[in-house]
Amino acid sequence: MTGAVGFGVFTAGGEPPRVGFRVGDGVLDLAAHGLGEAFEAPRLNDFLALGRRTWEDVTARAAELVDGGAELLPLERVTPRLPFEVADYVDFYSSLEHATNLGRLFRPDAEPLLPNWRHLPVGYHGRAGTVVVSGTPVVRPCGQAKGPDDPAPRFGASRRLDIELELGWVVGVGSALGEPVPASAFRDHVFGVVLVNDWSARDLQAWEYQPLGPFLGKSFATSISAWVTPLALLEERLVEGPPQDPEPLPYLRGGGPAALDADLEVEIAGTVVSHTNARGLYWTMAQQLAHATVNGASLRTGDLCASGTISGSEQGSEGSLIELTWNGSRPLRLGDGSERTFLEDGDEVVLRGRAGHVELGEVRGTILPARC
Ligand code: MN
Repeated sequence: MTGAVGFGVFTAGGEPPRVGFRVGDGVLDLAAHGLGEAFEAPRLNDFLALGRRTWEDVTARAAELVDGGAELLPLERVTPRLPFEVADYVDFYSSLEHATNLGRLFRPDAEPLLPNWRHLPVGYHGRAGTVVVSGTPVVRPCGQAKGPDDPAPRFGASRRLDIELELGWVVGVGSALGEPVPASAFRDHVFGVVLVNDWSARDLQAWEYQPLGPFLGKSFATSISAWVTPLALLEERLVEGPPQDPEPLPYLRGGGPAALDADLEVEIAGTVVSHTNARGLYWTMAQQLAHATVNGASLRTGDLCASGTISGSEQGSEGSLIELTWNGSRPLRLGDGSERTFLEDGDEVVLRGRAGHVELGEVRGTILPARC
């Protein structure tokens, strides 16, 4: 099956929302094939809770139907919805190159990596309720900002609105409170992956982030793909992460190949501005899972955990504008001759990904003017 993308929820022709499987530019209506009530639902959560055996069986069945010539609805005739009800949302900071770049930009006089970074996958809890599906417009946020030389903070529209190219994993089977989930159980709990755009207002973020981390500079919107790609389609593309030095503590070992070899790109206002690959992330998805639960915090069906911005080491492989333009000092030139440091109103951002013959669902979003 070439061009498989994954599972999502859609409406078409005024009928109630239901579960579909996207292949290329077509959607297989799973509710129409008698697979059970979980597929007649307006969210994937019921299917996600059924566990690994069912995920693998249904993925195989969908492929069988497609290969057997089952009718596909043309993508332009369906309206995708947020594919699953997001339970909790965690955002990590797993790219060594991104963490180093941001350290240099935000704390120019200090060591770029903080002392904990190579010992644990740093992360924070985000706002699950503002995760939106690809295609949802994003209103430029308003808030407080204060540059280092400003005498006082100002209130107004963000002037430094940015993107973050990320890979998220979606929890299917939850866990019990008080019981850590080992890295080796990654495939029993995690259903699949989505591309994520963690929109970031850098001016709000820079003023508010110490000492408790990201807050309003991130929480106004996070966009995800409409289609969740199951791990069952990605086995050949799950690879070992890069070497880690120092060796992590025992609870962070044993996850097996849990980095995703997926080529990624960022397009802004019609021009591709970055190419990278998710396999270079220092911390793997299995390590993120083990760390997020090592204190006994439980998982829930629908939890979304994103990687953090994915940046490579070469110029043009950075996953955010703050890095691509080095804090606005090196504007990007777009195909139409215009320049960008940060996003302008009307800009459409598209994230795309591909893992071999599997396409990851794209993530689109257009910036609307601020309302302050
Ligand atoms: Mn992020």
